[in-house]
Amino acid sequence: MTDYTDIVESLQKGAEKHPELAETAGLSCRLLEIEAQADIPVPTRVPGSDEARALLQQGKPLLNLDEIEIDSGKLTELAMQIAFAIAEQRRERVRELADIHAWLHRRRDRMRSLAIAYLRGNGIPDSNSGIDGGLLVFVVHTALRPFLRAYADALGRFVDAGAWYRGYCPICGGEPDMAALEKSGGRRRLLCSRCDAEWAYRRLGCPFCGNDDPKDLAFFPSDDKVYRLAVCERCHRYVKTVDLRETPTERPLAAERVLTAGMDVAAQNTGYQARA
Ligand SMILES: [Zn+2]
Ligand SMILES: [Zn+2]
Repeated sequence: MTDYTDIVESLQKGAEKHPELAETAGLSCRLLEIEAQADIPVPTRVPGSDEARALLQQGKPLLNLDEIEIDSGKLTELAMQIAFAIAEQRRERVRELADIHAWLHRRRDRMRSLAIAYLRGNGIPDSNSGIDGGLLVFVVHTALRPFLRAYADALGRFVDAGAWYRGYCPICGGEPDMAALEKSGGRRRLLCSRCDAEWAYRRLGCPFCGNDDPKDLAFFPSDDKVYRLAVCERCHRYVKTVDLRETPTERPLAAERVLTAGMDVAAQNTGYQARA
């Protein structure tokens, strides 16, 4: 897994080359700094190697959400720090972020169970009372990342990333939000939107619905051919992809997901969805 320092460095380089990304990259660097300083303990309730092998063979991710080690207080504090950091940069969102801060404060004793519901794909419970739901998801998702990265760190050694080949993450079960075509051979690799784990996936096919009919799949390359947006006409989801055969050096995907924010806007304006 890519270290926070390498992600930050790559974001800074990207922002130097593309000044229009400076603000987005700057905020992202600040959030990564907060995540890196969170000092999350190494998870202790993890499967042994035999159990891990059996789970993976059955197509089950290694993280058992019922047992996830998250301290509610620590998660709340991290989410509040993140909300505060966003408010410092995006003054126009101060009011929404203050509401989110208050929302978090009132739920600080049960943040772990709210996080588990979110990780199960049920959205964030109790979040539709006059609060900016999209912004809350971003805050909670970001606050959860260091907890989940700790699992990816602890469990990564059990995963043969080239043998998993499913559309969801072998560590946490999350969906991908970025892909790469590898320099040698062009094999496709996906990045987990939640824990930053990476795994191989077939070159053609939609990781979200499994559709592999070329008629219902399309991709739009950037002018320099470095990026391509792969879209699925069946489920209307998309995957942003960096083609590493077209870049001189390797690029951390966790930085690329931020540097390609423009592709999210373009995809969503054309009717494709980032989330189910
Ligand atoms: Zn994951
Ligand atoms: Zn699809």
